[in-house]
Amino acid sequence: MESELITYYNLTPEKITKIPGYDNENYIVESGGLKYVLKTYPFSMEQFDLLQAESELLGELGAEKNDYFPRPIKAHNGSYVVVCEHHGQKSIFRLLTFLEGEFFANVHHTPALFESLGSFLAHMDNRLWDFDNYVYRSRRFEWDLQHPDISLSFLSEIPEAADRKIVAYFYQQFKENVMPALPGLRKKVIHNDGNDWNILVKDETVTGIIDFGDATYAPLINELAVAMTYALMGQDDPLEWAGHILRGYHKIIPLLPEEVDLLYYLIAGRLCISVCNSAHSKILDPENRYISVSEQQAWELLHRWITVNPLRARDCFRKALDLPVEETEPVESKIAGRHRHISSVLSLSYSKPILMDRAAFQYMYDGYGNTFLDAYNNIPHVGHQHPVVVEAGQRQMAKLNTNTRYVYDQLQAYAERLLGYFPESLNKVYFVNSGSAASDLAIRLARHHTGCENVMVMEHGYHGHTMTGIEISDYKFSNKKGPGQKPNIIKTPIPDTYRGVHRGDDAGEKYASEARHRLNKFGDQVAAFITEPIVGCGGQVPLAPGYLKHIYEAIRLQNGVCISDEVQTGFGRLGSHFWGFEMHGVVPDIVIVGKPMGNGHPMGAVITTSEIAASFETGVEFFSSFGGNPVSCAIGLAVLRVLEEEQLQQHALETGTYFKTLMNRLSLEHPCIGDVRGSGLFLGFEMVDEKGLPDTALAAHIKNELRNRHILISTDGPHDNVLKSKPPLCFNRQNVEQVVEEISRIIGKR
Ligand code: PMP
Repeated sequence: MESELITYYNLTPEKITKIPGYDNENYIVESGGLKYVLKTYPFSMEQFDLLQAESELLGELGAEKNDYFPRPIKAHNGSYVVVCEHHGQKSIFRLLTFLEGEFFANVHHTPALFESLGSFLAHMDNRLWDFDNYVYRSRRFEWDLQHPDISLSFLSEIPEAADRKIVAYFYQQFKENVMPALPGLRKKVIHNDGNDWNILVKDETVTGIIDFGDATYAPLINELAVAMTYALMGQDDPLEWAGHILRGYHKIIPLLPEEVDLLYYLIAGRLCISVCNSAHSKILDPENRYISVSEQQAWELLHRWITVNPLRARDCFRKALDLPVEETEPVESKIAGRHRHISSVLSLSYSKPILMDRAAFQYMYDGYGNTFLDAYNNIPHVGHQHPVVVEAGQRQMAKLNTNTRYVYDQLQAYAERLLGYFPESLNKVYFVNSGSAASDLAIRLARHHTGCENVMVMEHGYHGHTMTGIEISDYKFSNKKGPGQKPNIIKTPIPDTYRGVHRGDDAGEKYASEARHRLNKFGDQVAAFITEPIVGCGGQVPLAPGYLKHIYEAIRLQNGVCISDEVQTGFGRLGSHFWGFEMHGVVPDIVIVGKPMGNGHPMGAVITTSEIAASFETGVEFFSSFGGNPVSCAIGLAVLRVLEEEQLQQHALETGTYFKTLMNRLSLEHPCIGDVRGSGLFLGFEMVDEKGLPDTALAAHIKNELRNRHILISTDGPHDNVLKSKPPLCFNRQNVEQVVEEISRIIGKR
């Protein structure tokens, strides 16, 4: 190296120090009281052309002999880029001036510094305004936000499924929200790597930028997006800090609203590129620590970014620049519009209903920039807009969607996979599109099989909105406005060990014996008995232990069939078991599933025995236009895949147990929390007054206050005094802590 410095530059180095580099070798060379940077690269024609282009670019920037940018130094042969050969191995080197200053990453961050970063980048971009080079125009590489697909090909190299899903989510959003806009944006040659280890600072002012190795022809806004990504890492309020950089830039080069509006997803995109490339580089070069210098902070910001409503980011960025902010129509007028066509028999949650715009995993974003923590909705089982599920649906929808009258592989694949989660005896499945269609069909199967019309149902139970659904749902038929109980329906008391009459170890048996008594009194055979394992609409009431075993025996004794409604409790939500009936050590004859099955895509199913299926075959054909269609099957398969990959059942167990522990602890301080019950992430917290009686007003107060604090939870039960939580299974410990802290504050403030 020394000899090259002498031969090519007439420089006698006094000291050479190696400094970290991403994918080449860099040295600080000291000679004659001056400092230089020597950069060496393995030879390739592509690298050579790129370095030539970079020298031109630096020439353009350094025309005025400044110290803002490194200046390339010409070798004796007249070239800025020298190719030499050692033992048959060609390599490239070049020499640049050294810039003094501290790295942005190492200095105290102030708003003035951030504004200075923005202005610096804009001044640089201004200098490059007329610069062009075919090498940059034709460049296609992994650090360019125009080509996120290159880095995304390393997605599978990210070890944690819970991390991968965030990257995949933002990538999907990027494709939806950024890619279509790219062709219409202002493009220039940009530095494209204003990261905090490339920016130099003196006295709260940015004084220089180094490493033009990622320069490319790209949308101007990418310059800012990249720099903002790194500057925002580790900041308490990233949106506020973003404003300072933006203002600095905007003063020099006014930004266009359509550019600013892309920043949220561009920043997310850059974070995704960064973590994918880190994962890949770690595999290629596990010893190089420089390649993952920002990795931890990038992950932190990504996980944080998902909690930021994209509309809030958009509006904050616009406001910082005094650009016009579009006002969202008030929810009241939206509701008035809704009522012109939608009957008010469809209720809205909360006295102040929420206008929902989009969602991601356990977060929902309203139309006004707020982020809601979803501690309530069980349908987006593996998380709202889970990218694996979305992609499965999109792909299959683009390929084939038809019905079960044709043969296609997805139906068989899904049926096999789904039945794999059931005991052997439950080996036939009928696909429908809702829990209601499933309960309706289940009763039809039972009636056909037994030749009898009567059904025994659970007090406060709910199974669907069809005629049959209402007939078997005490929650509906006993409602003040409901149609009342039909003569062919027997209702059995809910085996509630908290508020019910039987509470001890033998409560299950006692409730079952009461049910038997009612059966005997009824005097006629019943076709079926249907219940949930934890009665949701009853107020998240777990059936007393032993109850189902006894009652199943009684039902079967008189040739009835036992139906477990797993529409809410199924698919691992309960943590300890995949299905609720397993908790009770019984095997039903029919199981109905729905809600979480398609993560929001309308799916339901009835699972039964060969024997019951054989009876049904003697009747008319069963056909559902949409039940079991290829798109639904692909989505159902994706949900199961995510459940396994992210080990969500185990996660539900751990998070749910933690939730219960914290709520139990809180109940010691606040006796108004009368009972904490449920399993996994299917929980109920019963609110009571000083006498231990149901406190409906308090439950409503907490629910509404939580809504005001952007947490979604619901109330239920015959007295509507039970707080109900059944969030997406990716709900985490911090989410739990947030909910419990807020409940504690609300109760404490009363
Ligand atoms: N069974 C249970 C236990 C339910 O909670 C519901 C819906 N709340 C249904 C059946 C009906 O499902 P769907 O709304 O999909 O028709």
